[in-house]
Amino acid sequence: MRIYFDNAATTPMHPDVIDTMISVMNDEYGNPSSIHRHGRSAKAIVEQARKTVAKTINASIGEIFFTSSATEANNMVLKNAVGDLGVARIISSATEHPCILESCDFIRREYGVDYVLLDVDQYGHINLGQLEELLSESDIKTLVSIMHVNNEIGTMSNINAIGNLCKQYDALYHCDAVQSVGKYDIDVQASNIHFLSGSAHKFHGPKGIGFVMISNDHMLSPFIHGGAQERNMRAGTENVGGIAGLARALQIMYDDRVIVLEHVLDLRNYFKQELNSTGIDIRYNGDQETNFAAHILSVSFPPGPKADMLVMNLDIAGISASSASACSAGIEEDSHVMHAIGHDADRKTIRFSFSRFNTRDEIDFLVDKIRTMV
Ligand code: PLP
Repeated sequence: MRIYFDNAATTPMHPDVIDTMISVMNDEYGNPSSIHRHGRSAKAIVEQARKTVAKTINASIGEIFFTSSATEANNMVLKNAVGDLGVARIISSATEHPCILESCDFIRREYGVDYVLLDVDQYGHINLGQLEELLSESDIKTLVSIMHVNNEIGTMSNINAIGNLCKQYDALYHCDAVQSVGKYDIDVQASNIHFLSGSAHKFHGPKGIGFVMISNDHMLSPFIHGGAQERNMRAGTENVGGIAGLARALQIMYDDRVIVLEHVLDLRNYFKQELNSTGIDIRYNGDQETNFAAHILSVSFPPGPKADMLVMNLDIAGISASSASACSAGIEEDSHVMHAIGHDADRKTIRFSFSRFNTRDEIDFLVDKIRTMV
């Protein structure tokens, strides 16, 4: 038996998505830029997919562009907002994904842009007061880049409050919504979000395809130059099968989001209940009360050689989960997120992340293994 509890890293594809992609790849092999029938038919698939994405986040169709990944989408927004929109300061947070942090670091070095990282509290929440203070004390053109759901600990930001502050102080708001798109309601207009990124492989779609929403009032120039694809915004022949798969996966996820959330929340609560009954000194990282995404549970185990080996031993037992540490020069170190929330570095954190395809029986198997291993 092989059990997959690493759905924040990537998700298994939904069978209907695979069917859709196979049929598109078989039949719709035309180049969307060609004006003959094969081309027009492929183009129609891309445009239908754009409509699906736009509708899901309440954007307009012309604001959606397909990219190779959310990493590309995030790079595009951050780098081109500086080049095109006169952004002279970026405010982000210490727990963002590396594709945000590394891009911001690059932008600071190359373009001399002011770059401020907000602290987070022990649960991973930014301090909205600190954000407001920074926005109010200067009228320098600012882009705020704060993610919706943290990929390591599941803590969920109040995107409405952040968007409102950005609106009040005339700042731009970019939201990395990779862990929440399709799973939680997002309304880019109501939340005053100017830029948003998503990635298909996080919601049971294929890898290598993502999207960026760029609001009409803050259009950017192309990030990749060449042909006129994506209305001149992103050159390169479109990944038609991937785009069709992204849209199908998003539609399924979005339509089923209420029952999926209920299911995933049940698995999370059941897992916590069973873990707590083992008598092991377990702690949970991230907000456990209100503002969290149900599919991510970051568990901190007491120090000791058994805990250090846990991810590996679970793997041997047939369970895939993820360690929240990076190994440098043979020494395991807490991730930047664990550092930012002040996690006790002697303890060992493992991220378990769930999807609609997990079951309570799998949780029973997992807890049984943890009980014997720790
Ligand atoms: N942002 C967050 C929050 C993520 O979890 C990930 C993927 O791990 C990314 C960005 C990058 O997404 P992609 O794999 O599409 O580049």
